[in-house]
Amino acid sequence: MNFEGKKVIVTGAGKGIGRVVAEILVKRGAKVAALTRSADDVVSLREDLGCQAIQVDLADAEATREAARAALPADFLINCAGTTELQPFLKTTVEAFDHLIAVNTRAPMIVAQEYARSLIEDGRHGAIVNVSSVAAFVGIPDHAAYCASKGGLDGLTRVMAKELAPQGIRVNGVHPTVTLTPMAIKAWSDPEKAAGMQQRIPVGRFAEPEDVAEVILFLLSDEAAMVNGISMPIDGGYMIA
Ligand code: NDP
Repeated sequence: MNFEGKKVIVTGAGKGIGRVVAEILVKRGAKVAALTRSADDVVSLREDLGCQAIQVDLADAEATREAARAALPADFLINCAGTTELQPFLKTTVEAFDHLIAVNTRAPMIVAQEYARSLIEDGRHGAIVNVSSVAAFVGIPDHAAYCASKGGLDGLTRVMAKELAPQGIRVNGVHPTVTLTPMAIKAWSDPEKAAGMQQRIPVGRFAEPEDVAEVILFLLSDEAAMVNGISMPIDGGYMIA
């Protein structure tokens, strides 16, 4: 998987899975355009990885569109940014629900629209990976808004895959289980809850960011030229019936 000379937009490249994806891409010769929020991450992406780092709050639709345009032109897009807020279903607030939909579902749509329009205008081909979650398939207590936001993202992935592939742009989704990043530490800090989840993963461990990053990069690569519209679990077998 050679990304030499390719430009890749990575949202949420400041931390976690996105950061590891950006690091691997840079090592493999790609130029990364990072869309992320925290100022210190923006500085580190620029200084440590040489990325084009654009600071944006992806909950803001207009700012997201402007940031996406600033990152273009690009060869590939990874919609990795995501957020969560733990609330039982009966206590899920409209504010939290709307925020998660804005960041986890609407922002990937906006960035993908800008990326795809630019490729089509230039007559070039490309590929998108949307980072979803096993939470799109499984009802996880206290994750109502998150599960809904990732289920919505999967719907987008499938429509984009059908509409964009004829224009030379493949679109796939990946579905990690718990992956040891700042987000997971927030959601799975209760050892009893974490042990219960881990017991249901046949390979016997949570994922590392690298486990997820390598699958994302495979789906972008020419080796996956006939893979379009899939939802690829990265879950150690968690979803086996
Ligand atoms: P992290 O919290 O470690 O990193 C998320 C990144 O997204 C951060 O750089 C964060 O920036 C950025 N981000 C979040 N909200 C916004 C926003 N409003 N505007 C701009 N940037 C934002 O998360 P992970 O690496 O764990 O998650 C990456 C993706 O993987 C997400 O889509 C997540 O849903 C998915 N996933 C993660 C799993 C896990 O267990 N970790 C499991 C399944 C799926 P900042 O910190 O500055 O806000």
